[in-house]
Amino acid sequence: MEFGALNNYHFETGPIRPPSEAYSLLIRATRNCPWNRCRFCVTYKDQKFELRPVEDILEDIRIASRIVETMQAATVKSGYEGREREVHAFIYGQSYINDCVRQVALWQWAGGTSAFLQDANSIIMRTPDLVNVLSALKSTFPRLSRITSYCRSKTAAKKTAGELTELQQAGLSRIHVGMESGSDAVLTMTGKGMTAEDHIKGGRNIKGAGIELSEYFMPGLGGRKLSAEHASESARVLNEVDPDFIRLRTLSVMDGMPLWENVKSGELEVQGEDEVVREIGEFIEKLDFNGVLKSDHILNLLPEIEGKFPEAKQDCLDVIKRYLALPLKDRLNFRLGRRAGLYENLNDIYDARGYQQVDEALQQAGADTEEKVDELIAQLKEHFI
Ligand code: SF4
Repeated sequence: MEFGALNNYHFETGPIRPPSEAYSLLIRATRNCPWNRCRFCVTYKDQKFELRPVEDILEDIRIASRIVETMQAATVKSGYEGREREVHAFIYGQSYINDCVRQVALWQWAGGTSAFLQDANSIIMRTPDLVNVLSALKSTFPRLSRITSYCRSKTAAKKTAGELTELQQAGLSRIHVGMESGSDAVLTMTGKGMTAEDHIKGGRNIKGAGIELSEYFMPGLGGRKLSAEHASESARVLNEVDPDFIRLRTLSVMDGMPLWENVKSGELEVQGEDEVVREIGEFIEKLDFNGVLKSDHILNLLPEIEGKFPEAKQDCLDVIKRYLALPLKDRLNFRLGRRAGLYENLNDIYDARGYQQVDEALQQAGADTEEKVDELIAQLKEHFI
């Protein structure tokens, strides 16, 4: 099959999307972040926020549509009609085809039902402009059943109920909010530019408009000193908002991040992995909401802390208890195995061959203490960000 002509098409995409949008069509509605001052975030460092002209965004949607048409025409010409998914997978695997076309192929392979508007806070656009973009997406790709975007709580708090309802009616079905913490002390220390009240108001506005809400909580962000407050205040704020999803994304702080200065000054004492697991346990103990808790980021140690609440609450707490009850040798083995990608979940340490493999790696690296294992893991984590 020859698909080189697809390289004639290209549209703009941004650097990130939530893990849950891996199979979505990515449309860049704005560039970078209008805040850009969170001390743990370097995604848009030194990049200026820009509203893109609406006509440029609409042209990108038209190009995405032409890519879909061209892929379909080439599929038929090659005699693969009826085997479209095979063709989409094939295109996605071709390194000579540009990233934006490969992303469209992946999206089509997954069914073509979701789209994500990049970058960090596109809800800040004028409401009529955003309605225009949402309407164009829906009419160009009628199979879309989910359109999502990131949004800062303050932006959601400033939009009127009428504006958010207009967005919902135009097709905006889910908003991802980086709450990170519900503690005012943690929010101040980390430069989030937000208070607990902003998070509550913004979150309630989104839910009130009938838009699904996915809130991110960042375990570890308060460090040792603010850990208890970070856990309890975050649970309090989320209980008041009652989002559809809460997603865990554990802090990873490293040299080069503004937050590293807080570490150097002693203001932020970075917790070890087990302390963060305990903090997540305290958070879940206080959590009383009616949505789904997800642990869908590689930075989280225990991916199985997931499920529909309140039903799954005890199971999540049991996973934490089970991990913390393991002997130190097994916890270290699991920590390295998980970070190295050898283990998917806690049960994997009972696979004798895998356990042995990780044990040998620990011995070869001379990682015979908790500190040395943490150093090794910190090196691995740098590749996850
Ligand atoms: S609002 Fe989001 S994208 Fe912007 S600096 Fe903070 S974490 Fe980064």
